[in-house]
Amino acid sequence: MPFSTIIMGMATSILSLQDFLSRDSNGLSHSTFSCPYCGKTHQVPIGEMRVGYLVEEIPHALERILQHPPRKAQILFDRAIEEVILEQVTRPLRQNGLNLSLLPAGEKGVLLDSETELGNRLALAVDDEAEILIGAGSGVICDLTKWVATRTQRPFLILGTAPSMNAFTSITATMTENDVKTSVLLNPADAVFLDVNIMVNAPMSMIHAGVGDLAARSICNADWKLSHFIRGGYFCPLPYEMTTENERQVHASARGIAHRETQAISFLGEAILKSGLSMTILNGETSPSSGAEHVISHFWDLLTHTRHLPKNLHGTQVGVGTIIMLAFYEYMRKIDPGKIDPRQVIRRRPPVEDLLRENQARYGKAAPIFNEVVKTKYLTDDALADRIRWVQNHWEQLWNAVTPYAPSLESIREPLHQAGMPMSLSAVHRSKEDAMEALIKGPQYRSRYTLLDLAWELGLFPEAAEAVLDLAGVLE
Ligand SMILES: [Zn+2]
Ligand SMILES: [Zn+2]
Repeated sequence: MPFSTIIMGMATSILSLQDFLSRDSNGLSHSTFSCPYCGKTHQVPIGEMRVGYLVEEIPHALERILQHPPRKAQILFDRAIEEVILEQVTRPLRQNGLNLSLLPAGEKGVLLDSETELGNRLALAVDDEAEILIGAGSGVICDLTKWVATRTQRPFLILGTAPSMNAFTSITATMTENDVKTSVLLNPADAVFLDVNIMVNAPMSMIHAGVGDLAARSICNADWKLSHFIRGGYFCPLPYEMTTENERQVHASARGIAHRETQAISFLGEAILKSGLSMTILNGETSPSSGAEHVISHFWDLLTHTRHLPKNLHGTQVGVGTIIMLAFYEYMRKIDPGKIDPRQVIRRRPPVEDLLRENQARYGKAAPIFNEVVKTKYLTDDALADRIRWVQNHWEQLWNAVTPYAPSLESIREPLHQAGMPMSLSAVHRSKEDAMEALIKGPQYRSRYTLLDLAWELGLFPEAAEAVLDLAGVLE
């Protein structure tokens, strides 16, 4: 233990920024940090976090959590990967003497969703004798395990089987109710293990999804800073800084990821743990890992329900969304704000009643969500004129604030390309029209303020949407 730490009850207090930034995810376990940037105390309420050969370690980890040898544990998993779980997880665990019951979810060949109804059914099926839960899987199983463990008040260990998303170490879960995904605050994991042995053999599409979900970090903090600059509110650069080295490692080993090299997949795993923590230290606030690229992805998810478009992995969509948003920042940097006439923008924009009617016609059951957002985001004529003039007068300051969080498109596209990432709309089964609609309508679906909202306020749509998709190179 470094001398600069003090043990306070269960939590370690980290005293210097340098110490905080030099730690890996496990070094931040059960820690608190009084932030020199924002003045808040950031907390990591999560137990052990490790990447490695870990299945055999699980019984010891359970014992550390329970503070006695586990009498019985129960493992939650997706039947879609039943063979992998039985062969690589439950068999070695039972051979090690762990008393383990099974809690399978879903069925083979069907993409599992983290629906609250399913979560509640699983919670009712939890073995009374099981003292602790193990959630073995990736995104959906992770969300469901958090839900079930919170409802049944059980401690839990997450065993990640694919590096496909960054929520293993977050304290929220994305749950679906009536076709709508919402973020729910749940109990933090008592341990998160990412097993390299299993992860190197995960489907490449899931590995790519993880790279895509992490790519968001490269541009979404610009949205957060932009929102802070224009509308005020909270911003802290610590989440971005704490993941800088991880992003560098993942990009530097991009080719190794494409070849499933153990070291590269381990870097990806650690980056995923840290990325989740960057949200956890803000009590689950997702801004450091989620901006307009996630708005685009969430909008495309909605189209799977309203127009029955094919489902994609979350991170794959986010990766494409990230490329589009990197291009959008480059596009916006080059416009001449002096050419925008506020009176003309106000004359050209549709009245709020038209937007509400249009959303009703387009999105049916989901229309109320859109319209609630529209009502809060739609500025009065005077407020919009003020907003445009203010942005025109602060244009250079705005870019000075945002640019540290907005790297060039090429600097991110190149490593993603080396990793073999799909980066076109066709790879996520979306048309140019679906992408334009996501850019223009997505901001009416999500309350988060991003560059897409600014573009709308400045009257740049639909022309900007078309130009940005071109610039992003996602149309081929
Ligand atoms: Zn802070
Ligand atoms: Zn994500």
